[in-house]
Amino acid sequence: AKQDGRARYAFYEAHLDAALAERMELERELAEAIRGNQLVLHYQPIVDAATGVVRAVEALVRWQHPTRGLLYPGAFIQVAEESGQIRELGAWTLEAACQQLSRWKSQGRHPGSVAVNLSASHFRDQRLPEQLHELIQVHALAPGELTIELTESTVMSDSEASMKTIHALRDLGIELAVDDFGTGYSSLAYLKLLRPKKLKIDRSFVRDVPGDHDDCVLVRAVLGLAHALDIEVVAEGVETEVQRQFLLGEACTLQQGYLYSKPIPAHDLALRLNAWP
Ligand code: C2E
Ligand code: CA
Ligand code: CA
Ligand code: CA
Repeated sequence: AKQDGRARYAFYEAHLDAALAERMELERELAEAIRGNQLVLHYQPIVDAATGVVRAVEALVRWQHPTRGLLYPGAFIQVAEESGQIRELGAWTLEAACQQLSRWKSQGRHPGSVAVNLSASHFRDQRLPEQLHELIQVHALAPGELTIELTESTVMSDSEASMKTIHALRDLGIELAVDDFGTGYSSLAYLKLLRPKKLKIDRSFVRDVPGDHDDCVLVRAVLGLAHALDIEVVAEGVETEVQRQFLLGEACTLQQGYLYSKPIPAHDLALRLNAWP
């Protein structure tokens, strides 16, 4: 039995070693990816559902892996967060999104605003406002052309430092959107604290409307609340015409989801953007 135990232990150890090795390999590759031009942003439009006009776009990162093909954030964002690479990734994302916005503008196209997702560690970084200010200057953007998407848990992780950063961003004129709204623990308290320009109703609440009575009630309640607080609402994950009609009926005109477009390369999106100036 003792022999057995030792053999089993060796077996687990081998597996742990393999998992750890794989993890370290991924971190190493990710560092290469960030510096070596393997990351790419895809853009998904946020549409006025009544007119079809693109009102904003969200930048979503992908990794064109040399051997494993196109990787989605689910495969590497968490690793980046745990390894500390997320700040570098975030800096890359911000730079790439601003560059793209100014490129679209020079082509006579305008997406309204570009939204970038940032993680908690960015908000703990007191230099973020300064970096954003510089980016806006370098690319000759108006601060309102840039939206930062954050989740409630982002703020919760270190609320004092994060709130300081958030206030600084607001002073710069950069707009905030609360992402995945409704999935956190204290959504209402954070709305009051953050006073974001937009909130995005999480896909999980949109999925079953209008069939699920509770979800309909929730969506209506969020819309009523947001309206009262003068916050714009985006419905995420709109996939069907029935969802679109229900949301429009509830005066939720800003919608995002596969019904309108999946996230696509910048070049493919360009033709759908408004003429500018
Ligand atoms: P998110 O910010 O909530 O982004 C929306 C996700 O839902 C995207 O997944 C998008 O492709 C997907 N989606 C959009 N419309 C629909 C729909 O109609 N149906 C369904 N089923 N899905 C839809 P994606 O691109 O895989 O990104 C996943 C998450 O990764 C994002 O969730 C965001 O939290 C994170 N992420 C993406 N890009 C970045 C980034 O540059 N930095 C950081 N820190 N996180 C990022
Ligand atoms: Ca988002
Ligand atoms: Ca979301
Ligand atoms: Ca999400």
